[in-house]
This record gives sequence, structure tokens and C-alpha cells, in this order.
Amino acid sequence: MENLVLPAPAPVLLPVAGSEALFPVRRIYCVGRNYADHAKEMGGDPQREPPFFFAKPADAAIPSGRRIAFPPATRNLHHEAELVVAIGLAGSDIPATGAERHIWGHAAGNDLTRRDLQDAAKAGRRPWSMAKGFDNSAVIGALHPLSETGPMTSGRIRCHVDGALRQDGDLADMIWPVNEVIAFLSRLVTLAPGDLIMTGTPAGVGPILPGQSCRVSIDGLGAAETAFD
Ligand code: MN
Repeated sequence: MENLVLPAPAPVLLPVAGSEALFPVRRIYCVGRNYADHAKEMGGDPQREPPFFFAKPADAAIPSGRRIAFPPATRNLHHEAELVVAIGLAGSDIPATGAERHIWGHAAGNDLTRRDLQDAAKAGRRPWSMAKGFDNSAVIGALHPLSETGPMTSGRIRCHVDGALRQDGDLADMIWPVNEVIAFLSRLVTLAPGDLIMTGTPAGVGPILPGQSCRVSIDGLGAAETAFD
């Protein structure tokens, strides 16, 4: 590639649990309001809404265990504990019944959100991009291959801030389970290896303050931890 006008961007790589292997990140999609109790706390109607999606840049992804600068331009940074699905096989118009073969693996994740910017975006009917897609906004724990965990259709998902329990849900309470999320999303975009899907958060989202640490854990998948300056 001698004709590049700039050095090619470094690939975004995430660790695989129990291995030296790395997962290359291509794109990050996120599901909004995928647990009934969280949809209610955000003022939505969990009965009627089909899943909707937003995105983060690939290089918003950071592995578990980092200390990061407190994000700029917010006075209300929120944690959102989420199951992350890593895509390993390309596809579009994927039927829910055939979605599992497109999954490479799963991880625990934290969809960090500048809630004040999101509230302003909602009020002004503007995009969520700067509320959701900022630097270091997708904390992703070590990836666990599907071959080792099987499908993640249930299991406890929690978030602790400085050791205090903030969110405590179960993957079984998703409005749209992983196979349905893949089916919906693959009708909107062609999924490709390296894509990550953050599948929504249960109730209990709340603030992280400068100097605190935040830990999202899912039974069988370990944790996604971040300390903030
Ligand atoms: Mn979220």
C-alpha cells in the first residue's frame, strides 16, 4: 500500500478470553431500549417498539481494565451494562432461526453514555451520535467464543460502581433476544466479521463520577471494567 496519503489507521483489536488471540473490530451497533424495565425508566413503551439501532465508531472500543480520562463535555456520564455479540460470519436478511451461525462470540460491555447530551438530542430531535459515539465509549470485556459458551439466552448481568450494585438484570428479560436482534439489524445493513452488537441495558442506569470505577459483569463472560480519572 505505497500509495496511501497517510498511514493506514491501526486496527482496533480486542482480547479473546484465555488466549493470546485478538478479535478485529469493524463496526459497533447498539440496540436502544431492549429491556422492558429500562424502556419504562426512559419513558418508552416496551410493548410496541420494534428494536432501533444507533452506532459507535469502531475505535470507541476499549478493552477491560483501562484507566481513562473522564469523558469531556458531560456532567452526567451514565453506565449501561450490556451483552455484546461479536459477528464472525457475513450476512444480510438473516432469519432469526439461522442467526446463531453468524455469532463468533460474546462479551460483557459498557455502553457509556453522555446522558445530558442524549437528553438534549432527544428534546431537539437531533442525532444521538455525540451522546453515544465518543472516545472510549464502548468498554468491551474479553470475548468468549460461542463454541465455549453456547448461545447467551439467559444469565445474570450486573453493573457495580465503586463496588456498589447499580444494575442487576437477566439476559432472559431482553424484549428482542440476540437472534431477533441479528435478524432485524441484518435487514438494515449487511453484517460482516468484526461487527459488534451491544444489545441493550436493563434498568438501573445511572451516573459515574470522576475518580470512580465501573464494572459490568455477565455470568459466564467475565467483566468489562474501567477506572476514570
Ligand atoms: Mn445502551
